[in-house]
Amino acid sequence: MPRPIIAKIYPQAVAHNITVAQTISGAKAWATIKANAYGHGIERIFSGLQGAQGLAMLDFDEARRVRELGWEKPILMLEGCFSPDDYRSAQSLDLTVVIHHAAQIDWLIAANLHKNLNVYLKMNTGMNRVGFMPSEYGAAFERLNALANVGNITLMTHFANADLSDGLTEAMERFNSVTAPILIQHPQLERSCSNSAAVLAHSSAHFDWVRPGIMIYGSSPFANKSAHECGLLPAMALQSEIIGVQHIVAGEAVGYGSRFVADKPMTIGVVACGYADGYPRHAPDGTPVIVGGVRTRLIGRVSMDMLMVDLTDISGVGIGSTVELWGKNVPIDDVAQASGTIGYELMCALAQRVPVVVE
Ligand code: PLP
Repeated sequence: MPRPIIAKIYPQAVAHNITVAQTISGAKAWATIKANAYGHGIERIFSGLQGAQGLAMLDFDEARRVRELGWEKPILMLEGCFSPDDYRSAQSLDLTVVIHHAAQIDWLIAANLHKNLNVYLKMNTGMNRVGFMPSEYGAAFERLNALANVGNITLMTHFANADLSDGLTEAMERFNSVTAPILIQHPQLERSCSNSAAVLAHSSAHFDWVRPGIMIYGSSPFANKSAHECGLLPAMALQSEIIGVQHIVAGEAVGYGSRFVADKPMTIGVVACGYADGYPRHAPDGTPVIVGGVRTRLIGRVSMDMLMVDLTDISGVGIGSTVELWGKNVPIDDVAQASGTIGYELMCALAQRVPVVVE
């Protein structure tokens, strides 16, 4: 009998969330599936991706997998190529690649491609991670545009602060002022700027293609607005069972370090889930959890394979009762926020050892 922990993946939720992104933005959507679909597993959610106009990712291996699964629509490599060889792979897999650095243009030239490659030209509008500075962008565009083996060039940026209501002003000013003269010369060019937060909150950044990631998995990109309020459905649940029960008196402590001390007689449930399953070790006392359909709280420090919950006021639960660590009733964002992290990190950290079912 395996440990009773299980992750459930809901491809139909992904399909719904992609439709939300398309409907709100009115744009074509690159469903962002890097990091093995934010930990969900590309193959597992593949059926839910079919409504997207394209898939965006980082790894050539993932691009290959997606082509093998039968994806014939566009694929966007978000960090582009790292050598001339990568450009040859991009050509054979029919990928669209981001270009964010002059060296990538050199490698593209060196690759000597025999057919046209579609590219996204990335501007650094303030994140200062990757992308051409606004002052260099026009020249990079001209250089690319002069190359015989470059097809469509899409103008793009990625925002540092799209989750803030006033977070785009400066970035949009930079993007719009630099791209305006290019668009006068080349009015057919498309633009792509929005991640999930910009899709949900900044219509001025929607343009032709959006790149929703976290929202397609049903997690909110905002600290103060829930996924439910954004109309999203969770694509992952983490469930387990009560595997032990302890009755303790006031003054007894629970777990490593005796972090939690009972101030009254209590019933403690032990859950088969720990940080080696991907549950955050930093989750504090009070982090929400559902046992037998009733909302209760984590108590004591999370250990490698187990965590403890308060069953004191819940009747009819015991060994074998189901526990939702996150999912349809406990938003992953609530667990993440309590633990000082974001839903992205919890999804990506789901451990290999956790069995997964697709529902
Ligand atoms: N576009 C780019 C360039 C990204 O790097 C990412 C993810 O980091 C996304 C889109 C999707 O972002 P999010 O998951 O916040 O929607």
